[in-house]
Amino acid sequence: MTNLLLFFAFLLGTIMGSFLNCLAWRLYHDQSMAGRSKCPHCHKQIAWYDNIPLLSFIILRGQCRHCRQAIAWQYPLMELACGLLFFGVMAQALSAANLATTAWALALARDWVLVGVMATVFLMDLKWYVILDEISLPAAGFFLIMNLLLGATWQNLLLAAVIGAGFFALQFFVSRGRWIGGGDIRLGLVMGLALADWQKLLAALFIAYFLGAAVGLILLASGKKSWGSRLPLGVFLAIGTIIVLFWGKEIIAWYINSFSAGALF
Ligand SMILES: [Zn+2]
Repeated sequence: MTNLLLFFAFLLGTIMGSFLNCLAWRLYHDQSMAGRSKCPHCHKQIAWYDNIPLLSFIILRGQCRHCRQAIAWQYPLMELACGLLFFGVMAQALSAANLATTAWALALARDWVLVGVMATVFLMDLKWYVILDEISLPAAGFFLIMNLLLGATWQNLLLAAVIGAGFFALQFFVSRGRWIGGGDIRLGLVMGLALADWQKLLAALFIAYFLGAAVGLILLASGKKSWGSRLPLGVFLAIGTIIVLFWGKEIIAWYINSFSAGALF
């Protein structure tokens, strides 16, 4: 049964990854979600059997059936990543004590949506340097409602939301919008409302900035970026949030332990 649920989660994740690839592309290009997908090169409609997550890319050997144009690696990678993330969320849910209750199902749905939102933020910020409100604002509302239903107190939610949005709003105002985009402020709000815990939020922000600085230094050293160039911060915030979703408790416990052990000396 466990294996079946994990397999189902992986499958659902690859389907969501395929959907989110499409959603990201259409949102960015301001197109409606109606209508079938087309090859961006030859504009031929993609048949359902050429649109199966992961499998079609393998069967078609990464090329459009009609024009043989290479399909971007982004498509199967996003499908695989979402498959693995959905699998991970299910694995975590299966280790919970209160299996298959309403609260359990709600938390599972919340975390699936969270990894989906963060995968989309990662993809769009990496590719186009945008974090769209069409994603952030509905996500913020969804996580607020879900966490209230799951028994988070409004005080904790408010605190996390204010810290998340405020952290970026402060940088936005200090730098007059040069360091940070408005999209980062809304993403900070999403992170606060989704994690619903100021400690987890701070952990996610710290991981994001640490990774961003590390990658930034590597890019500088290799001459791929200069001091003036922008890094897509949303990419690192998405990674930080996902790491905290899976290992937040352990990271916070480790931090508190090392801190209190240090205080003894
Ligand atoms: Zn084509």
